[in-house]
Amino acid sequence: MKTTTDKVWHSGKDEPADAKWAKFRELMTAEFPSPYRDENDPLAKGIAEAIKLVDNLKQEPGGPAYLGKNSKLEYTYPEVKNVAIPQNHSELDKVIGECVKLFEGMPNVNSPLTMANVWPQPNTASIIASILPLMFMPNIIEGEFAWNVHKAELESAGMLGNLFGWNPKNTGCVYTYGGSGCWFYGVKYALTRVLPDSREKGVRTDAKVLVSTQSHYCRANATDWSGLGMDNIVQIPTDPQTNQMDVALLEAKVKELVEAGTPIASVVCTMGTTDASVFDPIAHVREILDKYPNPKGYGKALLYADAVAGWSWMVFRYYDFENNPLGFSPEVIEILKQNLDIIKGIEYADAIGVDFHKFGFAPYTSSCFVYRDSAEFESIMRRGSYAYLQEVTPYNPMYYTLEVSRSGAGSLAGWATLKYLGLEGLQAILGGILEVRYYFQNLIEKHKNFVCADPDNTGFITLFRVYADGVNGDDQYRKEIEDPAHRAELIRNNELTAAIGEKLFEWYLNGHKVNGKFTPHMAYSTGFRTTSYNGDGTDSQAVVYALKTYPMNVFVTPEVMQHVVDCVVAARDEVMKTL
Ligand SMILES: *Cc1c(COP(=O)(O)O)cnc(C)c1O
Repeated sequence: MKTTTDKVWHSGKDEPADAKWAKFRELMTAEFPSPYRDENDPLAKGIAEAIKLVDNLKQEPGGPAYLGKNSKLEYTYPEVKNVAIPQNHSELDKVIGECVKLFEGMPNVNSPLTMANVWPQPNTASIIASILPLMFMPNIIEGEFAWNVHKAELESAGMLGNLFGWNPKNTGCVYTYGGSGCWFYGVKYALTRVLPDSREKGVRTDAKVLVSTQSHYCRANATDWSGLGMDNIVQIPTDPQTNQMDVALLEAKVKELVEAGTPIASVVCTMGTTDASVFDPIAHVREILDKYPNPKGYGKALLYADAVAGWSWMVFRYYDFENNPLGFSPEVIEILKQNLDIIKGIEYADAIGVDFHKFGFAPYTSSCFVYRDSAEFESIMRRGSYAYLQEVTPYNPMYYTLEVSRSGAGSLAGWATLKYLGLEGLQAILGGILEVRYYFQNLIEKHKNFVCADPDNTGFITLFRVYADGVNGDDQYRKEIEDPAHRAELIRNNELTAAIGEKLFEWYLNGHKVNGKFTPHMAYSTGFRTTSYNGDGTDSQAVVYALKTYPMNVFVTPEVMQHVVDCVVAARDEVMKTL
């Protein structure tokens, strides 16, 4: 290909190609993506090769749950940072080869044996969709540099608005950097509405953010970074039976604050906690907020739904539970109904946080802050005009977003997921994982030494304990959580649980086999609940440890879950030899 170096250059010389920079540029024009349609486009070829290389790190069928041959961590810290930028350029292939090597040993999110956390396998449409903007750089800050790619964000607002029962044309959304980014947007929206002066003068009033004690810890990030201050978080205790925000205590607190003249910036309802899958009673919270408006001079408190880990249960809103067209089992149908029942009050929220990279099966980061009244949000949050950018399309979020340059990747991932899976696809995936999860729960309930520690949890997680051979799991567990006389046994069995968890992690890393099969990558919790005699948590040892499985992909099967039981038993027997 002819390059620009053929022209006469600034120096006036005809032959700038002799210059070293020009030689380098010639090389780069052969390796940068071609501006024109080109059979030999170096980017298309390079991506195809890189995908082959990274796919080669996958195991043969039935292989271990990590990528590559070796799960060892390949660096030491902080020595790893003792490195400088190389003086000379590298071969493209060499850099890509080194890049692929970074994936060696990493847990494989696609493996049916991967079940350690809320870590979903991204769907194919969402991966491809989020690669495309990397090449053409739509900047979704404003219309000129996003053009039609903006439809991904705009149609997401419409589709999600419809899903939540809002007017889709009035709904708006911004994709942002995570569920914690959504929380941050929520706090900012609330402060702007309740303390309008704070836009110019800064936050000078101790407005409160009310949350349940089980809300996500990113409440600290949002109140800290916004300048509101973490001391302005008010934690409302949860009901010991349901784990939901206690509405009587909430009402008392709201009344007390308002009567004292203290404004409430926001009440945050967690609609799906990360592990326990608990939903706050949001419809009731709305009534309370309406009953006690903020003191005179302050705007209306914002009701924010942190639904990043629960929003997708809303897809069952359109499910025909009577005829059950997808054929879920009666047990799972009941759970799906419960989950829908408890999330659907979400329509009362002013704004909702949605993570596609949790129960939307999309890559990081594809989080979406969705607001019901776009006219309000986009006007009260508006900053002035910019000499730097011109409006050439009707949609220019630059005036109210936190970020300046914004990648289109997250919005394309979320949008493509909704288009590709549709309601039925999401229903089938969510319900299908629940089928596997309840199969597992039935297995451990039938096993004498096991107990399901959180049987009412209706999410994907199963928390369970296993005891010594001969011990009845159900009886032992009941004593441990209720009776202070069994505190020493509780602590001993917590140690056993941790030792089993550690053993399983070691086995996963070392490629150990049980019954000829590789072992799962799972996790354990060092205190997912307190004992009933330690409700306020003052006794730091009277807490319950549990092993945890969090299956999140479409490859997990009943056989895999039976194997998990076998591996847990084998790990228990192994650690009991030395305890
Ligand atoms: C995961 C999670 C967050 C934080 O979201 P990120 O996407 O990890 O930033 C906030 N709230 C809840 C309930 C979560 O589960």
